[in-house]
Amino acid sequence: MDLVAYVAKAPRLGETVTGREFRTVPGGKGANQAVAAARAGGSVTMIGAVGADEFGVRLRAALSSAGVDTDALRTVEGASGTAQITVDDEGGNSIVVIPGANGRVTGLEAGDEARIAAAGSLLLQLEVPLSAVTAAARAARAHGVRTVLTPAPAQPLPPELLAAVDLLVPNEHEAAALTGLTDVRQAARALLQDVPEVVITLGAAGVLYAARGREPLSVPAPRVRAVDTTAAGDTFAGALAVALGEGRPVPGALAWASAAAALSVQRPGAQDSMPSRPEIDAAATAFAEQDGAGTPSGRDTAS
Ligand code: ADP
Repeated sequence: MDLVAYVAKAPRLGETVTGREFRTVPGGKGANQAVAAARAGGSVTMIGAVGADEFGVRLRAALSSAGVDTDALRTVEGASGTAQITVDDEGGNSIVVIPGANGRVTGLEAGDEARIAAAGSLLLQLEVPLSAVTAAARAARAHGVRTVLTPAPAQPLPPELLAAVDLLVPNEHEAAALTGLTDVRQAARALLQDVPEVVITLGAAGVLYAARGREPLSVPAPRVRAVDTTAAGDTFAGALAVALGEGRPVPGALAWASAAAALSVQRPGAQDSMPSRPEIDAAATAFAEQDGAGTPSGRDTAS
């Protein structure tokens, strides 16, 4: 559950500020990506856990109402995972995550492997223990299912997980944390030693796509007025998985997912801000007419 405080300017360490508004909003990277993919037209099953608290009830209901299958979502003793988020007037955010129930998801349970085997793609994040993420990725790999990992919150990734990842989607901070390199192109090149494809998201600067043996591809973000960038990366990842799962070529899939993310940053909230498929289709067409925005180019203008 996201506990969101809206403030003009985020407090520095030791500082107290008076904010404008507080909301509790269903979130979590896994749930956000599940909702993003469902809104984008995907058929989605969520594997994870909520706590036996009021938040758990609301979190499950939020997934169901977005059309996500929650049969594999466990309810465990204790608190649901929470994230305290501060959103400032520039649309920037800072976040403290308490894993709660997510920390109890240590591996796959009965039926999970069959669910993964039946999927077109497996979207993974790091808000459950690495043992579960790795088990899920390996199950997907064993069944020929594409694995897409958002390596957030950033942490070192074990080789056995990386070996089962097809597409890594870090933001620029996560890419730097994983590689020790702040140059985006260099970071992408380093990550390709571990995984065959990488998309580094660069906020308002768009995305950089890199694959082994191919020229890197830059996709500028559509120019929009951001009010809340919470879950922009999750919206991008969910929409990208749907587009790639439908067999769209990579440049078109990146532009379409960028349109989805650009729509989400113009609205407050996490899951509430995620666009529907018709909205993404319309925006992708409109953004393609902005000069250069959303149009993939072989030159890296981002780094
Ligand atoms: P995260 O949400 O993980 O921090 P980013 O900030 O890189 O990730 O945002 C993910 C994607 O969302 C970007 O690659 C871009 O497509 C889109 N996005 C984020 N901020 C903006 C913005 N201000 N304008 C347009 N698109 C944005």
